[in-house]
Parts: sequence; structure tokens; C-alpha cells
Amino acid sequence: MKELDAKNIWHPLTQHKTHPDVLPIAKAKGALLYDTEGNTYIDGIASWYTCMYGHCNPYIIEKVYAQMQQLDQIVFSGFTHQPAVDLSEKLLAILPDNQQKVFFSDNGSTATEVGIKMALQYHFNKGNERHTILAFEEAFHGDTFGAMSASGLSVYNGPFDKHFIDVVRIPVPTIETVDSILKQLKELHLKSPLAGFIYEPLVQGAAGMKMYQPEALEPILAFCKAHTIITIADEVMTGFGKTGTLFASDQINTKPDVICLSKALTAGMLPMAISTCSQHIYDAFYSNDMSKGLFHAHTYTANPLACAAASAGIDLLLSQEIEKSRLRIHKAHLAFKERLSENPTITNVRVKGVIFALELTKKMERYGSMRDQLFVHFKNKGVFLRPLGNTIYILPPYVISDKQLKQVYEAIEEVL
Ligand SMILES: *Cc1c(COP(=O)(O)O)cnc(C)c1O
Repeated sequence: MKELDAKNIWHPLTQHKTHPDVLPIAKAKGALLYDTEGNTYIDGIASWYTCMYGHCNPYIIEKVYAQMQQLDQIVFSGFTHQPAVDLSEKLLAILPDNQQKVFFSDNGSTATEVGIKMALQYHFNKGNERHTILAFEEAFHGDTFGAMSASGLSVYNGPFDKHFIDVVRIPVPTIETVDSILKQLKELHLKSPLAGFIYEPLVQGAAGMKMYQPEALEPILAFCKAHTIITIADEVMTGFGKTGTLFASDQINTKPDVICLSKALTAGMLPMAISTCSQHIYDAFYSNDMSKGLFHAHTYTANPLACAAASAGIDLLLSQEIEKSRLRIHKAHLAFKERLSENPTITNVRVKGVIFALELTKKMERYGSMRDQLFVHFKNKGVFLRPLGNTIYILPPYVISDKQLKQVYEAIEEVL
């Protein structure tokens, strides 16, 4: 498998010359990955926070299989189907109350891309064009052009710099810095009126699970609301129970105009994304004038199988079993944090919901050789963790057992 892979395949986020190694995975079940040689690895990051109810979850499989025999794919422009309608009902019931419409796309990047387009066209449709998007430093919103432009982690985006959309940045606020950031924001808005503000609520995933306080974000969102700057919460990572509440936006008083969802949306079974919005966003596109519509579509928009997987995922999310597990993992993380409190090799140990992260005091490059060594160490210990620079984080599937969680903690303690 490795040979043919090397011959045929170009992997993402990979410099093939320096990193020719790939690990062939044969199957996965619950929190475990099995390689082709029979070794197992605990999936400590739920395969980029997608398979939150465990790999190959029988309930998800059952629902997708049933849907497969009924309707596989249909154009979503001018047609509709039960799985999409069911999902819209279930999803809107658990999202913040102001979310009223569901727009489908394919992945996290397209979800944020759509959010950005909604913001830009909202002002265009109102006859008051605005060209600038506001984003946080070290943000990550995906790899398509709009999403990439809004992402602040652009160390590797150099070749595209000149092709970005217009984005200005502010630092992630703390209670201490928010006043000065607000001042900066007012100046930015005066200079070039801001169309929208895209942010990862409470946790910046790709930046290394950086966490910040809802109270610090609140004044920024309030300013945006007051100046019709469309607020876009990118909950692609934080959504579906990971931060302690169903959505991170539940912990923030000011609700966003748009919410972007993907990753755990479909329980890791199939790719799909959704951007939801409030009524007033939708209304700005509702017109006798065809050109005021949102002309964005992907071929597989609202694929029935993906919708069935997402609906089943929400059933599991709302089950008592998963709710209990989320709390169990959260408490275990807190105890692990406590245990590490005296350790001099680390700083900034933090827990939010089922997310655990720490910084090694030793400085390392994001994709440097230390990081590779860590990755290999974890692998040898039967644990799949993917350190980001000197950040080590755990974001396990909710079905991880106490014993498996302990094995993940021990692998980390050994490194320290
Ligand atoms: C992963 C991620 C994206 C991009 O999603 P893709 O499906 O990889 O395109 C966008 N925003 C956040 C917060 C993410 O974690």
C-alpha cells in the first residue's frame, strides 16, 4: 500500500520529500484506529474532531444505510428531500434561537466562504457596498481563497498573498486588552467600513487550541451589531458539544448572525457543511430581483446520505449516554490538569469541555523535527495525537473509555 501511495498520491499538509512516511490504516472502530500490521492507536483527536461518536458508529451506519436504499443524490436547486428537512428541524432546534435558515455546502472552508459571501452581499444588496472583512490574528477558517484570506496562520500561504480578499485583523481580546482593541476596531471601521467579522468562538483550534473568555469577546460583538457588521461564528471545530455547551456561541450573550458548521456535523461519516443565518440576513437576499439571491452552489449540496448522517449525529449528541460521557471526559481532563500543576516543563494547561491543551515550555517550530519526534513517540505508545508546534492537545471522541483516556494521559506524561 505504501509503495502505490508514494507512486500515485499527493497528501495534504505534507512535504513529501522530507516526510515520505504515511501510516496505512485498515479500519477503525469506536476510539480505535487499526493499521495494516494489526497495531492499534487511540484516536486522541477524533480524526480532526469529526468522529465524535466513535468511528463506524453502528447507529450512524444504520441510518446512512437505510437512506442509501431510498435516495442517494438529487440536485438541491428546485428540489428538496426528507433528510434535509429533518436535519434542518433538528439543527435549528439546538442552535441559538436567532438562527432561522440553513444553507448547505461541502466542508468547513466552504461553510466560512459562504458566511463571508453572505456578509459581503448583504451590504451589496442594501446598496451600501462594504469590502473589508474583520478577523482575528492566528485565526483559521479554511483553505479556499476567502477562508484562507481570513485565516491569520498564513506562514505557508505566501504564494497566494497577493490574491487575498480584503481582511483586517485584531488580536484575540482579553478582559485587560479589550478596551484598546475596541479603539483599534473603531479606527479600522472608520477607515474602511467592515462588512463582516469572522471568529472562532472561545477556542481557536488550528492556532493550537488557544482559549479566550466570552466576556472579552462580548464588547466586540456588541460593536459589530451596533454597526451592522455581520458576525460570523466559525463553529466548524467548536460545534456539537466540544466546549461544554452544544455550541460555543451558547456561552456568549450576543448571538452571531451566521454560524458555520462542519467536521462533527456528519459524525465523521461523510463530508458536508452548513452555514445557518438569522432572518434579517435571509431577508436581505429575498427579492423580486433574481440577482439579489445567493448564487453559491456545490454539486453535492445537501446530499441525502450526509444529511442522514448529520441527523443521526444530533440524535446521539442529545442522548443521555453522550451527555454523560462529555462530562466524564471533562472531569478527567480537570484531574489530569491538576496532576500536572507542578510540572516545570509545561505552561498554560487549559481545559474547555472535552478539549485539553498545554504548551511545552521548549519552543518548537509548527512542523519542525521536535514535533515529528513527539508524533512518533505517541504513535509508538499506541496513541494518535497531532502536536501543533509546542502545543499538545487532546480532543477525544465522546466514546473514549476511561482506560483509553488514561493511556493518552500517560503517553503525554512520559514526554514531559
Ligand atoms: C477545519 C476547520 C475549517 C476548515 O474546514 P475544512 O473542512 O477542512 O475545509 C474551518 N474553520 C475551522 C475553525 C476549522 O477547524
